[in-house]
Amino acid sequence: MASCIRRATTLAATRPSVLLRRNGLRAAATRSFSDLGVPTPIFALTETEEMIKESVSKFANEEILPKVREMDEAEQMDKGIVSQLFEQGLMGIEIPEKYGGSEMNFGSCIVAIEELARVDPSVSVMVDVHNTLVNTVFKTYGSEALKNKYLPRLATSSVGSFCLSEPASGSDAFALKTKATKSQSGGSYTISGQKMWITNANEADIFIVFANLAPERGYKGISAFVLEKGMPGFNIAKKEKKLGIRASSTCVLTFDDVEVPAENLIGKEGEGYKYAISILNEGRIGIAAQMTGLALGAWETAVKYVWNERKQFGDYVGNFQGMQFQIAQAYVDIEAARALLYNAVRAKEAGGVRAGEGFVQEAAMAKLYASQVAQRVSGQAIEWQGGMGFVREGLSEKFWRDSKIGAIYEGTSNIQLQTIAKLLQKKYQNK
Ligand SMILES: Cc1cc2nc3c(=O)[nH]c(=O)nc-3n(C[C@H](O)[C@H](O)[C@H](O)COP(=O)(O)OP(=O)(O)OC[C@H]3O[C@@H](n4cnc5c(N)ncnc54)[C@H](O)[C@@H]3O)c2cc1C
Repeated sequence: MASCIRRATTLAATRPSVLLRRNGLRAAATRSFSDLGVPTPIFALTETEEMIKESVSKFANEEILPKVREMDEAEQMDKGIVSQLFEQGLMGIEIPEKYGGSEMNFGSCIVAIEELARVDPSVSVMVDVHNTLVNTVFKTYGSEALKNKYLPRLATSSVGSFCLSEPASGSDAFALKTKATKSQSGGSYTISGQKMWITNANEADIFIVFANLAPERGYKGISAFVLEKGMPGFNIAKKEKKLGIRASSTCVLTFDDVEVPAENLIGKEGEGYKYAISILNEGRIGIAAQMTGLALGAWETAVKYVWNERKQFGDYVGNFQGMQFQIAQAYVDIEAARALLYNAVRAKEAGGVRAGEGFVQEAAMAKLYASQVAQRVSGQAIEWQGGMGFVREGLSEKFWRDSKIGAIYEGTSNIQLQTIAKLLQKKYQNK
């Protein structure tokens, strides 16, 4: 078990009566509230999750923070940071121990994503995509052979990418044009087409690629395949230059008749669309965590300055009531985003809030709101610091640039609103 995770579990183990192990982690946190006969606050963490929070925060501040500005300017993820993420156990958080992972719960993964984003949203999204999308696909839908082959690598050394979007299919993801053709012998598939805006692609070795095996069946032809860097015909055609999360790579991929062995089909032929929908529902909670952490990071950076450093008219600028009210309001907004976030986390862990309804609405609401709060608060944080917020000396302008992506990837804000509205209509509209 690697360091961040090991440190967390070791710390937790020193406290008696703590339920350390993976399943039923909530018991530790709920005990005192249930003893009192009151419901548990939605964002109460288990002791293990609290330890992970502490441990990841320490790692982020000591190891990542000194490199954040440099990575952003270079538009490049530091290789040493990537290695440390693996060493710290942060790339296999939910992967079972038998495959070399940390075998923690989903909540621990979310806590880690949130804490990383408080310092660097780029590192956070690398961990998020790798854990909540890529690892989860293998864990949930991969054959035993695929799990044995790829999960140990994903937990210890190989970054993963999730490749769904294409130049002509973003929000309408299942209109994808990348084609898969099965060989006559059935021993392989040939993939041809293009993917766009793929996170982690520059660092990744393992790619989950969605391609249509039977276009005449529409989205029901979509299947998921594992591709590896270096397969003949598979190229990273371009690395995008971006507004924000610049250290996170975002690339165009091309597939020129890439031959993939039949065993690299994930799950069943034609079921890729189902896997993508279910995984992205989970992934959205990860983005909500990234945006909540970002908002808090921006808020904290600003209050340090206005309450401890900057004086005007003989007093700290944060002591003026006009400032205090804005700062307090922003904090309330962040806490509201966190409540929606952990509501979605617990709903997901419980298999849905209401039987049969899943956690789709909870995830969409959390992602929508957290991305709105992140953008608003990080923008205000710049204004609170005046000129110092605007220059590239500090990290405030970066948090604001980084916040913009929250309303775009893993379903734009309009798409989240559409999902929420459809579910509400189902409930409230007369048939
Ligand atoms: C930095 C970055 C990283 C990314 N990482 C990945 C990745 O790792 N893997 C991956 O597969 N994809 C990734 N994406 C792609 C991302 O998921 C898409 O950009 C996103 O889904 C939106 O698609 P689009 O950009 O084509 O926008 P479009 O779909 O063209 O939308 C443009 C606008 O139209 C609105 N719109 C579209 N349809 C509707 C509708 N029905 N109702 C109302 N409004 C609508 C949208 O809300 C948006 O405002 C990434 C994108 C970026 C920028």
